[in-house]
Formats: sequence, C-alpha cells, structure tokens
Amino acid sequence: MNIKIDQLEKSYKKKKALYPLSLSLNTGIYGLLGPNGAGKSTLMNILATVEKPTHGKVMVDNQEIWQIEKIYKSKLGYLPQTFGMMPELTGREFLMYIASLKGISSKEAANNIQSLLQQVNLTEVADNALHSYSGGMKQRIGICQALLNRPSFLLLDEPTVGLDPDERIHFKHLILKQAEHSTVLLSTHIVSDVEALATHIIVMKHGRVLATGKVNELKQAVKGMIWKVPNKSHSSLSYPHIIGSNHMNNDGFEETKVISFVSPSPQAIPVEATLEDVYLYNIHKDKLSTDNSNINNNLNGQDGWIG
Ligand code: ADP
Ligand code: MG
Repeated sequence: MNIKIDQLEKSYKKKKALYPLSLSLNTGIYGLLGPNGAGKSTLMNILATVEKPTHGKVMVDNQEIWQIEKIYKSKLGYLPQTFGMMPELTGREFLMYIASLKGISSKEAANNIQSLLQQVNLTEVADNALHSYSGGMKQRIGICQALLNRPSFLLLDEPTVGLDPDERIHFKHLILKQAEHSTVLLSTHIVSDVEALATHIIVMKHGRVLATGKVNELKQAVKGMIWKVPNKSHSSLSYPHIIGSNHMNNDGFEETKVISFVSPSPQAIPVEATLEDVYLYNIHKDKLSTDNSNINNNLNGQDGWIG
C-alpha cells in the first residue's frame, strides 16, 4: 500500500499542531520519532480519519482517503495513544465487540482472535474481565484489536507504553511479521522502541518533519560527527556540541557521547552513530551553529543537553 501525505496541515483554535507536511509511505516499518507535543498523535489521528486536516490531503494508492473512507477503514488498523475499554467485558468479548464494529463475521473474528491472543500471550486470561488486567495486558489487547482485520496499513501510537522488556520483545516479533505485507507507522518518544524494528525513520518536532529516510541513510548523514569523550575531560570541550548518553567503558571510566562537526576535545574518539545519535542530532541540530559563545558550558550529563 502506498500512502501519500500531501501538504497536510492541522490547526486548532490557538495552536498549529502540524505545519505543511508531505511524506510517502510504502511497505515497511516507519518509526515516527519526536518529543511530546511534536504532532505525532495529530498526524496519526488524521491518517486514521478520526480528525480532519485543516489543509492538504492523504492519498492511498492514488485515491483520497475521505473519498474511499469505508474501503480505506477496512484496510486500516489503529492503536490510539489512549483508548477506552469496557472493564466488565473479558478480553475475548471486547475483541469480538470491536470485530463486529469493523464488520468482521463472528466466525472469522473468533479464529483471528484465538490466534492473536496466542501471539500476545494472553490466551490464559482471555476469559477474565478486563478490569483485572495489568497495563501491559490492556496494551496487548489494544494491539490485538488493531490487528483484527489483518490491516494493510497499521497505525500504532506509542504502542510500547506499559510493556515490560519481555513484552517488548514479543511485540517486536509480532510487528516484524505484520510488516512483511503491510505499511506500519509506529510513533514513540523512546528511540530504543524502534531500534532494530524500523526500516525508515521520520523525526518530528513542533509540528514539522525534521528528517526522514532509511535508518542507514540517516546514520550516514551524521558520519564523522559522533564522538566518545571521557567524562573527566568534559570541562575542556570546545566547539558547539550536543551531549548524548553516558556509558561506562571497559576500564570502568564514564564516557559521554558528543555530537560535533569537529573533534570536540583532544581526548575525543570517533565512533559509529546509533539511532539515538541520529535522533538527538536532528532534534538539536539548529544549536550546532558555528557561534562559539556557548562553548565550555558545565555539562550536566542529561541526554540532549546543548553545549
Ligand atoms: P505528540 O503526539 O507528538 O505528543 P500531539 O499531536 O498530541 O503531539 O500534539 C501536538 C500539539 O497539538 C501539542 O502542542 C498539543 O497540545 C496540540 N493539540 C493536540 N490536540 C489538540 C486539541 N484537540 N486542541 C488543541 N491543541 C491540541
Ligand atoms: Mg502523542
């Protein structure tokens, strides 16, 4: 499925949530990364036809989604960032209810539900009431309802919230399988959620797309800019830079990732870029100007601190 987002804009009364935004999505997993307030959920809601854009359009296989709304919705799976459940229903009953809203026959639904519940490891509790479920279990039911109609376009808004590390691994396998035949757009503000999962990345901030491309292309774009610096030499950091994460090296000394066009310190060692470096660079690159007035700041070790 090809989804073309063309000059999409969204304004609320006093707030511009999306500036004109154009993207093209094909089969694969797209990680939509951005801090809170970036506009990720707004974009998802428009793609899910829950909200209308102020301007612009979304085309699916060359047809406007609002003109083929019924067919489009039958191919769509959506996990909103927050959604209501009926606490008295069991997990299975809730999924049967959603299936009936989606127009899936009860026989087909029963089979799909059985298989999905197995895949998210909820078979044993499927006939317990939802009010007895943990946050992670509810989230897994939410993922099941998005997959009920075997969607060719799957929208997942912060899907890993509430999942423990084991559940995250299961979730990744499930999505990888799903993405073999469909387009998946997965939003998160936690970069590691899409590491080893997304083939493409879209970075958003303040309602704008700052970067988009294949993971490797985006890593290539920051080649030669990622450094490891021993923490003890922080005070001597020069040139505008972005501070990334902290790590302990093999000798037990703390090191910090630093993003800078040139070596920020005589002790700096160039290293390969990770997805987190790509994210931090794109979110903060406006601060990497050649204006040296900011240099030699005291560093507090926070991710994304601008020096
Ligand atoms: P994200 O999902 O990336 O955290 P959102 O899409 O939820 O971002 O929000 C983008 C911006 O739009 C935020 O500043 C938010 O406050 C604003 N916004 C979202 N929904 C509404 C609404 N219904 N009314 C007014 N402002 C909104
Ligand atoms: Mg959101």
